[in-house]
Amino acid sequence: MAETSETLLLRAPLSGVLLPLAAVPDPVFAEGLFGDGVAIDPLSDTVVSPCDGVVLHLAATGHALTLQASCGAQVLLHVGIDTVSLRGDGFAPCVAQGAAVRQGDALIRFDVERVARQARSLVTVMAVANGHDFPVAARTDAVLAEAGRTVLLQLRPAGAAAAAAPAPRADVTDAAALRRTVTLGCAGGLHARPAARARAAIQGLEATVALHYGGRQASLSSLVALLALSADEGATVDLVASGPDAGAALDAVARELQRTDAGEEQAVFPVGMAPPPGARSGELPPGGIAGVAAAPGIAIGPLRWWRDAAPEPDQAGLGAPAERATLRAALAAVDAQLAHDSAAANARGASAEAGIFAMHRALLEDPALLQAADPLIDAGKSAGFAWREATSAEAAALAAMTDRRAADRAADLLDLGKRVLRALAAIRHGASHAEAGVSADVALGGQPVVLAADEFTPSDLIGLERTRVAALVMVRGGPTAHAAIMARQLGIPCLVALGSALERLPDGTQVIADGDHARLHANPDEHLLAAAASTLRLRAQQGQADLRVAHAPASTRDGVHVEVAANIGSLDDARHAVAQGADAVGLLRTELLFLHGEAAPAAEDHTARCQAIADVLDGRSAIVRTLDIGGDKDAAWLRLPAEANPALGLRGVRLAQVCPQLLDDQLRGLLAVRARPPLRILLPMVSEAGELLHWRARIRALAAEAGADAGIEVGVMIEVPAAALLADQLAEHADFFSIGTNDLTQYTLAMDRCQPHLAPRLDALHPAVLRMIAATAEGAARHGRWVGVCGALAGDPLAVPVLLGLGVTELSVDAALVPAIKARVRKLAHADCRKRASELLRLASAAAVREACRRYWPA
Ligand code: PEP
Ligand code: MG
Repeated sequence: MAETSETLLLRAPLSGVLLPLAAVPDPVFAEGLFGDGVAIDPLSDTVVSPCDGVVLHLAATGHALTLQASCGAQVLLHVGIDTVSLRGDGFAPCVAQGAAVRQGDALIRFDVERVARQARSLVTVMAVANGHDFPVAARTDAVLAEAGRTVLLQLRPAGAAAAAAPAPRADVTDAAALRRTVTLGCAGGLHARPAARARAAIQGLEATVALHYGGRQASLSSLVALLALSADEGATVDLVASGPDAGAALDAVARELQRTDAGEEQAVFPVGMAPPPGARSGELPPGGIAGVAAAPGIAIGPLRWWRDAAPEPDQAGLGAPAERATLRAALAAVDAQLAHDSAAANARGASAEAGIFAMHRALLEDPALLQAADPLIDAGKSAGFAWREATSAEAAALAAMTDRRAADRAADLLDLGKRVLRALAAIRHGASHAEAGVSADVALGGQPVVLAADEFTPSDLIGLERTRVAALVMVRGGPTAHAAIMARQLGIPCLVALGSALERLPDGTQVIADGDHARLHANPDEHLLAAAASTLRLRAQQGQADLRVAHAPASTRDGVHVEVAANIGSLDDARHAVAQGADAVGLLRTELLFLHGEAAPAAEDHTARCQAIADVLDGRSAIVRTLDIGGDKDAAWLRLPAEANPALGLRGVRLAQVCPQLLDDQLRGLLAVRARPPLRILLPMVSEAGELLHWRARIRALAAEAGADAGIEVGVMIEVPAAALLADQLAEHADFFSIGTNDLTQYTLAMDRCQPHLAPRLDALHPAVLRMIAATAEGAARHGRWVGVCGALAGDPLAVPVLLGLGVTELSVDAALVPAIKARVRKLAHADCRKRASELLRLASAAAVREACRRYWPA
């Protein structure tokens, strides 16, 4: 498209993905009531001028403006949908009304996160308000736009209208006109949407209508003039109409202007919760609810609320001796069932799960609970009533503590309380003691459901039949809660923190739970449903195809071998890793083996657990990380004082400063494991070479003591920015590096990885994190060391080419992802990855990197 003296070119006001107006989630724009134009799903945060012109109107709320080009074309720029309701929050205009601007000048800056959090969509519209006079002659067929550069539309004036810029004017002045006064009901006043609707309302009528307000007047035919009236919600506006249909026109316009918009469907985000990156870069359709992904995958099904309310106990008891005996019987039944669940989980190697039950047993034994319940029973209350009082008082005390871990225990206690109440009810109804301990059954009929709860507790999930539950969704909860850990282990997609929007959905609502994009779609239209169903089908087919070749090594198209290993935390995981074709174990999180135990593990415990895993691996190598307790990982048996900033405190190898025995025991235990090839040891949270030298010396000394091989390889987790920046120094003494992008991102961006409100922004493809990775690879290369990535970024298909391009040669991912990541590696050309990866370091945001990756290496 070229500019001539006859035409006007409009360039992209924002960078982003281009959409036709019809795809805008607002009928006013989608139906072209504002005129012809184009929409952009923005990837940048500054609206720039699409052409030279004058700012004819700037909304007081800063979310929209209209430019008039010298030829007279009026171009409306409207950021987001329903953004008028933000009343300026998040918008900073860079120009004033009446200002002359050049193409490319900044017009409005907006806070993407803030606006995305509160608005229905960020999709931004550029429309020609007087398109009758300036129709669109040509439009781009590009998919992506670059702000200020990409030409989106070419306008060609229709006849003489272009000769001069028409001053917006009221075209109704005659004395015979009909008049009416109306009060503006629309939230935000006379903004773009009601103005366009009012204009559309008189289409087909033979009438002209003008609005008078504040000493000014505007014809209904000029959107810009209407906006320029700046009439607020509640303002009193005079309507003046003339022509044969003046009466009908007045009625129609008055109806539109008085509408409160109350009946319009609004997509709701949980309060204070930003939509995830996916939601920011693609609009959330009506019915879409943003949350936080706790386990990946997509599921379609009816929503089913998990009604697990504990039975309501009678208040009055049947006499203290009988009630005391019943309570003790119920406690014994639950304890026996917990012991059974714990043993069963252990047998499967699911030690994290087993530990949760063991911890519940310890809570059950807490004498404070019976000490609180017994006096109530003696005072005539029932066992159930007394037990409920005792557990809720204790839980409330825990929940009130500022320590997040104590608050987590409160949830455990309430969960346990329910379990005992169910057991009491069962005993009253004649159940045997063994039956009484079993947690509530999931009574689900028919097709697999998307199970919803305010917040699931671990015991809720025990009896779940995996085949009956397509996904788990929660109003509250966090991605690191125990229930989320269990969902991941069960392989069930899981969304948390969906907020009150989920609460409002009734049983039976058809939903799509999208754990990949952290969103739930309620009552999806047939297109969304068809798309989700076909994604599921394709994934299943692709998954099977990938798995068939997952046991072969993976190399890029140009022959560079990449080791694809698995992250594991249990013996079960190790078996799964082998079945999924993992070349090795790239990270054994040993703390998960012992987190919920009752005492610190002894050297023999370490040997036994790791030997069992090494045996299952059958010749595959394993990187064993020393205990990384602290931060968000709390070991019940490690009684350390709570820290104000646990993520910045005694975690990883730093723990040895206060508990040196802990690490010594583990190293002794690991040195005793017999494995071929020998285990490799990985040290978490190292920040300088001195620490590494200390631990290498300690390993040598312990090996000498035990007569073990001192040549065991020792690597460093690169997860602290200091370690990345000093990688060349560390590489001199390390055998290898493994980059922990989860923590490296947390510490580089200074965003707590457990903070659900920041979760959507915690993107490891942030250029600052990529620079850390690049520095690590450079440092390693100076000493000929290899670099792996074991953080979640390694399992992100979009990130794989970037990591390979930056010099990473091993990717360690959740076992379930191994086949897909191998398949991804095989499709890439290493030379191309290398060439392009360095360009990404110059980009300004994670969103820009993601966008570039999609373009360079479509998945
Ligand atoms: C990491 O930080 O990226 C990592 C792999 O370790 P963890 O998630 O266990 O902290
Ligand atoms: Mg880490």
